Amino acid sequence: ISPMTIPPDATPMMAQYLEIKQAHPDCLLFYRMGDFYEMFFEDAVNAARTLDIALTKRGQHLGEDIPMCGVPVHSHESYLQRLIRQGFRVAICEQMEDPAEAKKRGSKSVVKRGVIRIVTPGTLTEDSLLDSRASNWLAAVAEAAGGLGLAWLELSTGELVVQPVERAGLGAALGRLDPQEVLVSEKLCQSPDLYELWGEWKSRLTVQPTPRFDSENGRQRLLTLYGVGTLDAYGPFSRAEVAAAGALVAYVELTQKGRVPRLSPPRRLGPGAVMEIDAATRRNLELTRTLTGDRRGSLLATIDRTVTGAGARLLAAQLSAPLTNPAAIAKRLDMVEFALNEERLRADLREALRRCPDLERALSRLTLGRGGPRDLAAVRDGLAQASAIRLLLNGHPGGPLPDGLGAVAKGLGEHSELVQQLTQALAPELPLLARDGGFIARDYSYALDELVTLRDESRRLIAGLQVKYAGIAGVPALKIKHNNVLGYHIEVTATHADKLMSEKGREVFMHRQTMANAVRFGTVELSDLERRISEAADKALAVELELFNDLVEEVTSRAEAIAQAAHALAALDVAASLAELAVERRYRRPVVDGSLAFSIKGGRHPVVEAVLDAGNAGPFVANDCDLAPDNRLWLLTGPNMAGKSTFLRQNALIAVLAQMGSFVPAESAHIGVVDRLYSRVGAADDLARGRSTFMVEMVETAAILNQSGDRALVILDEIGRGTATFDGLSIAWACVEHLHDVNRCRALFATHYHELTMLAGKLPGLSCHTMRIKEWQGDVVFLHEVTAGAADRSYGIHVAKLAGLPGAVVGRAEEVLTILESGDQNAAIHRLAEDLPLFSAALKRPPPAPAASPAAPPEPSRVEEALKSIDPDSLTPRQALDELYRLRGLL
Ligand code: ADP
Repeated sequence: ISPMTIPPDATPMMAQYLEIKQAHPDCLLFYRMGDFYEMFFEDAVNAARTLDIALTKRGQHLGEDIPMCGVPVHSHESYLQRLIRQGFRVAICEQMEDPAEAKKRGSKSVVKRGVIRIVTPGTLTEDSLLDSRASNWLAAVAEAAGGLGLAWLELSTGELVVQPVERAGLGAALGRLDPQEVLVSEKLCQSPDLYELWGEWKSRLTVQPTPRFDSENGRQRLLTLYGVGTLDAYGPFSRAEVAAAGALVAYVELTQKGRVPRLSPPRRLGPGAVMEIDAATRRNLELTRTLTGDRRGSLLATIDRTVTGAGARLLAAQLSAPLTNPAAIAKRLDMVEFALNEERLRADLREALRRCPDLERALSRLTLGRGGPRDLAAVRDGLAQASAIRLLLNGHPGGPLPDGLGAVAKGLGEHSELVQQLTQALAPELPLLARDGGFIARDYSYALDELVTLRDESRRLIAGLQVKYAGIAGVPALKIKHNNVLGYHIEVTATHADKLMSEKGREVFMHRQTMANAVRFGTVELSDLERRISEAADKALAVELELFNDLVEEVTSRAEAIAQAAHALAALDVAASLAELAVERRYRRPVVDGSLAFSIKGGRHPVVEAVLDAGNAGPFVANDCDLAPDNRLWLLTGPNMAGKSTFLRQNALIAVLAQMGSFVPAESAHIGVVDRLYSRVGAADDLARGRSTFMVEMVETAAILNQSGDRALVILDEIGRGTATFDGLSIAWACVEHLHDVNRCRALFATHYHELTMLAGKLPGLSCHTMRIKEWQGDVVFLHEVTAGAADRSYGIHVAKLAGLPGAVVGRAEEVLTILESGDQNAAIHRLAEDLPLFSAALKRPPPAPAASPAAPPEPSRVEEALKSIDPDSLTPRQALDELYRLRGLL
C-alpha cells in the first residue's frame, strides 16, 4: 500500500505522518513515537526485511492494514548504519514538543513533529556510523560555462575542496576520492559521454534537480556561509567549481535541515596539482584496497603506522593523491627525515599522539549541535595533547625545525585556557547525552552545587524517615521505596497494613495502593521531600544544560583554531609514522625534481617484500630500473612466475610513495615528477562490468595512448594477450611504437612476445631486459633478477611441471616444442597434426577409429556458415569485434 493519498477520515496522527512522508518520498521515515522510531507502509516492509526485525500492523489505511515496524531510540544507530550501508536514506522525524503540551491543546491534538535531519551515506557524523580510519567524502560534479567542476567535503571534519576537471579525467578524480555519495544534476546525469561513468558509480549517485547546480546561486550561498563579499581570497574559482561547491552546501543545508557545520574555507586543487591515477590503475596497483576489495594486503595497509584515526585518514588521502610539485614534496620529505633522525622525539610524539582522541570529528558534532559531553572531553584531551606536543617540538634541543614541522607547531596553537575550563567543568564519568545530566564536575558552578546538595540532602532525609516511620507504626519491616508511578512511598506486607490504617496510623499515613501481598502508603512529609528532590533535579539538569551550551559555544567560537590543531596533529602523525616505516623497512629518501629521470637503484616491492619477510620465504631480490630519456622504454621478457609483474608494479609504487612524500623501498631513487600514472594488465577479468576482457584491455590501452605525455609513467603487463597470437603481437607492436614515438613517456612493457625484442634495433629509446633464470639439473630456478637482454625461451613448460601437470603431458609438450622450434612453423604444425595419436608413446591408447567415410564431401562447419553470412563493409568496428567474439564462441 502506498501512502500517496491522505484520506479525509485519517486519524490526526496518520494525517501528520502522511504529510511528512510526502515531503520526503525518497527517504525511509523514522517517525518518533515515545521511545521508538516507527516506520509504516513500504518503509516498514523494506526496513523489516533489511534489518530482520518483526513486521507488525497498526490500524488501517484505505481499508487495508498498515504494516509497521520500529527500532528503539536508544539503540537506533546500529539499525541506521545497516540501512545506510544498504543504500537507504533515512529522514529522522522527532517530537518537537512535550506530549503534555499537545494534551493541553485538546485530546485529539497530536504532538508536533518535524524532520530534523536526513541521514545519507555522504553526510554521516556519528563515530558509530563512521570508520575512524577512513574519510567519508560527499562529492558534487557540476557543469558551467563549458567546464566541469568537482567539489567534495567531509561533514565530520568540515574540510571542503574544489577542483577543475576534464571530462576524461572525471573518472580518475572520483576514483581518487572514493566518495560515499556523489551529487549530480539531472542534466549532467543524462550526458551521453558520461553515461558509462555514472553506471559505475550508480550505487553512490544522488541525482538532484538541475537548478541546485546554478553557479550564481552557489556563489551567493558560499558568500553567505563564509560571511564574505567575494570568494577571490580563497582562489580563482571557475563557475563550474563554484556551482559544485554551492550544490554541496545546499545539500548539507537540506539534509541537516538548515544546520550547517563549520566548514573550512574552500581549498582549490589546481589542475595537475596531484598525480592523475585512473580507477583501473588504482585497482591494479592495489593502492588502498586489494583487487578483492580488502584493505589488508593493500599498499596503504602495508605502510600505515599511524596511531590516530585522523592520521590514518590523512595518510590515505595523501597516498591517493601524490603531489606533482617538487617543492611541496620536499617539504613533506623534510618532515619525515627530521622525524627519522630524531628517534627519541619521534617516540615521545607518537606516545603523545596515541593519547589523542578524534578531535576533528568531535568538533564537527559539536558545531552541528549533535555533540555530547564526551565530545567536549575529546576536545579537552585533544587540545591538551596538542600543547604537550607543541612543547616537545619547540623545546627540542636539536637544530631548527624543518618548515613543515614549524607550521605544525604553529598550527597546534595555544588553547590552555579552554583546556583548563573544560577540565574544571567536566566530571570524571561522562554520559553519552547531555540530557542524561550529571556531567558537570563539583565546584564548577555554585548554583548547580546548591541544587545537587538540596537533592542529595532530601534523599538523605528520606532515608532517615524509614526508621522514624517504622517506630511510629510499630512495624520494623517497614520500607521506603521508589518507583516511577508512585514516586517515594512506604511499603509494608499485607499483614502489617492494619497498623498503618488504624485511627492513629491514619493521622500520619495515607493509603495509596493495595497489592497482592503488600500495601503502600504516603505521607505529607514524603511528598514534600519528593517534590523538593524532583524540583531540584529538574533545576539541576536545566542548569547543567545551560552550562553545556556555554561550553559548546566556547568550543565552537574557536572552531577554526581547533580544526587547525586537529589537522596539525594528523600531519604530525603521518610524518612520524612514515619515519617509523622508513626505519623499520629500510626505506630511503627519494629525490624528486623537474627532470625526466627515473632512476631506481635496488628497488623493492613494498607489499611483496613485507609478505616475504613475514613468511620467512627468502629475501626479496632488489632490482634497478633506469628510464632515462634515451632509454625510456623497457621491454621486459621472461617466463611466468619470474617476477615481471612484481618488478613493473614496484616501480609504479615507488613513484607513488615518493610523490606522496614518503621514503621509498630502494637504495636510492631519483624521479622526475610523474604527472600521470598508468598501469594495465592484459585481459584482466572485468566480468563485473559485463564487458569482454579483451575489449576492456583495448579501451584502457586506448586511454593511455591518447592521454600520456612525456611526464607519464606507463606500466603495461602483457597487453595483447587477450586475443590470437598474431593479432596480439601486432597490437602490442603498434602500441610500443606509439609509446616510443608519440607519447615519449617512461614505460615498462612486459610481454610474452619475444618477437617484440626486435624493435630494439629500430627504436633508439627502447631497450630489452629479462628476468634471469638458472637451469640446474633440468630444472629452472627463478633468480628474480632483471638483466639486460632478451629471454631466449619461455620456460612455460617448466612452470607447468612445477604446477603439477601430469608427467605425460609435460613430456609430450616438450616434444611438440622441439618440433615447433625446429623450423617453419606452418610445416611443423601440419607434421604434428598428422602425427596421431598424440600420446602414442606415453599412454599407449588404442588408435582412433578410422574416419567414417573418406569419400563424403566435407560439410561446411558452423564457423564457415557464420563467416559466409557476414558483410564486412556494413559493420562498424564495434560490430566487427562482436562478430569476432561470436565466431570464436563457435569454435
Ligand atoms: P610474473 O609476472 O613474471 O609471472 P610475478 O611478478 O607474479 O611473476 O612473481 C611471481 C612470484 O615470484 C611473486 O609472487 C613473488 O613471490 C616472487 N617474486 C617476484 N619478484 C621477486 C623478487 N624480486 N624477489 C623475490 N621474490 C620475487
